Amino acid sequence: MKIKVDRGRCTGIGICESVAPDYFEVGDDGGLVLLREHIDDSQRAEVEDAVRACPALALSIVED
Ligand code: SF4
Repeated sequence: MKIKVDRGRCTGIGICESVAPDYFEVGDDGGLVLLREHIDDSQRAEVEDAVRACPALALSIVED
């Protein structure tokens, strides 16, 4: 499974970064940097929490 970002929706608020910092980082320009695309099984719940926490509904988890 991997993370998909809808960059047209992302507003750079950074909630995803606070929930799953191994995967998400908001850059100095306010753009989201996806640090890792593929989800480690042991961190699946954390990434799911980040996806749910995004207020802009910019994140989703998709099949490889
Ligand atoms: S929480 Fe959503 S809107 Fe905020 S930076 Fe992450 S993906 Fe973008």
